[in-house]
This record gives sequence, C-alpha cells and structure tokens, in this order.
Amino acid sequence: MSQAGVIQSDGVTGQQVPDRAALVEQTLERGFPLMIFPPALEAFFQRECEADRLRHVTASGLAAVLLFAAMIFSDWLLTPETLGLAAALRVGVFAPVVLAGLWVLRQLRFPLLTEWGIALAGMLAILLTGVILLRADSRWALSRVVEINIIVVYTCTLARFWPAVAMAGWVVVVQAFLVCTLPDFTGVVGTNATLLVLVVTSFTLFGNYTLERHERYAFLMAQRERALQEALETSHTQLAHLATTDALTEVANRRSAESFLTRTWAHAQKRDLSLALIAIDVDHFKRYNDHHGHQAGDRCLQSVARALTSCSRRAGDLVARMGGEEFLLIMVDVDQRTAMSVAQRVRDVVRGLAVPHCAPGCGPVVTVSVGVATARPGQASQLSDSLKQADEALYAAKGSGRNRVCTRLSDGEMHCLDELGLLSEGQG
Ligand code: GH3
Ligand code: MG
Ligand code: MG
Repeated sequence: MSQAGVIQSDGVTGQQVPDRAALVEQTLERGFPLMIFPPALEAFFQRECEADRLRHVTASGLAAVLLFAAMIFSDWLLTPETLGLAAALRVGVFAPVVLAGLWVLRQLRFPLLTEWGIALAGMLAILLTGVILLRADSRWALSRVVEINIIVVYTCTLARFWPAVAMAGWVVVVQAFLVCTLPDFTGVVGTNATLLVLVVTSFTLFGNYTLERHERYAFLMAQRERALQEALETSHTQLAHLATTDALTEVANRRSAESFLTRTWAHAQKRDLSLALIAIDVDHFKRYNDHHGHQAGDRCLQSVARALTSCSRRAGDLVARMGGEEFLLIMVDVDQRTAMSVAQRVRDVVRGLAVPHCAPGCGPVVTVSVGVATARPGQASQLSDSLKQADEALYAAKGSGRNRVCTRLSDGEMHCLDELGLLSEGQG
C-alpha cells in the first residue's frame, strides 16, 4: 500500500495525482460542504456503496410502487371522480416506469444513474399526483396536497443530496403551478398548503444533508482506518523481513537459521525424518578482499548466495548466511548420499560462476569448501552435535586443499571429494 501524501501517476493521462490515503486526509481536513469528494475519491465512494445502494433502492422502489398504487384508496374515498385516471396513472404509468427503471439500473450498475433515478421517480410521482389533483373537483381535493409532502419525505430520505435538491426544486414548480391553476387554492388555504410543502421540503433536505454528511464522514474514517491498518501490516512485514534476512545477500540471517533449525529439528524428530546440514565457506576470501577490494568482496558474496539459492530448490530448504563468508544450507528428509550430491553441486555451481580470484597463491576463480552432516533427530542425536560435525567436515575440506566436499561416514572416517569426484581421506 502507498502511504498518505505519496503521489502516484495516473495510468491514463500520465498526470500526477495524490493517492487515495492522501486524498482521504485532504478531504477530512478541508471538509466537503458541497457533499462531493474530489473526483477520484468520489468515484471510489460511489463504487464502494454501489451494491448496498442498489439493494436499498430496489427494495424502496418496489415499496414505492405498492404505496403509490395503494393511494387509489384515497382517490376512491376523497376524489372518486378521478378514480379511472388515477388508477391508469398509478398502475399503468408509475408502476411500469419504476419497475423498468429498476431493471435498467440493476443492469447498468452505474452509481450516478442510480442516484438520479431515485429523484426522477419522486418527480414522476409528484407530477402524476399534480395531474390527479388538477382533475379533481370535490371539496376534499385540496386536502390531498399532503400526498406531495409524503412523496417529498420518502424520496429525500432515500436520495443523495443533489438529486434531492433537484427534486425539491421540482416540488416548488409543481406547487406553484397548482396554486395558480386550482380554483380552490386561494387565500389562507393556498398559503397554508404552500407553506406546509416548503417547510416539509426544507426540513427534509436538511435531514438529507445531515445524514449524507455522516455517511460520507464515516466512509472517510473507515478509509483512514483501512490505510493505517495496511501501513501497519506493511511495516510489520518489512520489520519481519529485516529481522530475518541478511541485508547484503538477501538470504536468511543467522537468527532466522537458528530458529528454523530448532523448528525443523523438532519436526524431523516427530516424523522420523533425516536432516542434512551443509556448511559452506568461501576459500581465501580475506585475500580476495585484500586484492579486489571490499566492495568486490560484497558482490562476490551476493553471487555465491544466489548460486546457493539456485541449488536449494525444495520449498522446505533454507539457505542462510551465518556470518562473514560462511553459509549454511539446511534440508529436511535428505539422506547423506543426496546431501553429498547437493553439496557437490553447490561447489560446482560456485566455481561455475567463474568469479576471478587473482590474489597471489589463489584462483583462478572463487571456490568454496563444503562440509556435510546428516542426522536423524529421533535417534538421540543433538542439534549442536550435528552443527559441530558439519563444521568439522568443512575444516576437513579446507585442510584437504579447499574446493572440496567432505563428510564423516558412519564408519567414522572423514571422506572428501574433489572437483573430479576423486575420493580422499580428509583430516579430522
Ligand atoms: P579460508 O579459505 O580458510 O576460509 O580463508 P578465508 O580468508 O576465507 O577466511 P578468513 O576467516 O581468514 O577470512 C574471512 C574474510 O571474510 C575476512 C573478512 O574481511 C571477510 N568478510 C567477512 N564479512 C564480509 C563482508 O560482509 N563483506 C566482505 N567483503 N568481506 C567480508
Ligand atoms: Mg573462508
Ligand atoms: Mg570463514
């Protein structure tokens, strides 16, 4: 994850844009009085809310269809002369338009369309109610203005702020038209009904603004928490990596090798598996440093570490730098014969790197000496004994001329193999 304040390049335009965590912090600092985030964050907010919103809108849309159709009861009771028209508008126009709209919204899954679709449905309901009122001539017609208020409250509770504002504007237009057109909408009755609509609309808009503000604020806080959590996890991973990895060669460090050995020893003991310890030491490395310089020495150690890693192909193997120019390769479920062939491959691969070693009395290329020890942890042997055996074998390899692989066989004899695979008896 990237941290707050880091600038990323926009893949499409190549422009530099702040990353999401930085945008969240900026937005929290500056606020969002116009109920909109910066474009990239707004798009993310809409995407994150999309599934929930669509579910909510679908349920509310279906409920609206039923409620709007149920108002036929009021038509029959208060303005029976509009019953035919009202039934046609409620069931024949509103219901199919809203149902088709919901289907389209669910197909397109385009957040902006969903939000404006809610307001459009509310506007349609108000328009149709206005048409029904215009056709009514009974004395109860005016009392039905309250239905407009119900539609405003229902829609503004569901819609986002700006679609709700558009819807409020539409209510004002329809109300003004009704005031000018309906013959009974005069004097104190008209003023009262208009005031009622305006007050209800204003309060509902204020409620809508407050609710959305809380929702957006909660979203930003959740994003901040998520970013902090991710930063924490990243630094935890980095720390764990630093604590277990050798900085120069990127293989495991000594501490990591020791805890791996303890775990692996216990595992091998439980499963009755053999364990191979292959100790590797670069030959005449002090002279290499003296002749080629310390930096070249560092590069040489990196090449050797990469070569060792290439020789340990199984998931359970571990290559570690135990210090200086000494490495350890740990392998589980490997017998002495296989361990010896891996050790020879290690020696040959390092020699195959052909890193020139031009110090007097050395070379022509960098080589390693290798000591091999195998043990069955179940057979009362100690981890420290096995490490000691690997060390003894390594020093036997040094003593028998370097660039060799040595191991102590079960008969107690130290056997060393040179590059040609010739067997010699090592010292030690
Ligand atoms: P031998 O063949 O017997 O192993 O001889 P050697 O010279 O390799 O062994 P010795 O222990 O005398 O020297 C090891 C050298 O490794 C000494 C030290 O300067 C060098 N060394 C240890 N750590 C590093 C390192 O991180 N980078 C470099 N460039 N050299 C290192
Ligand atoms: Mg050495
Ligand atoms: Mg050494």
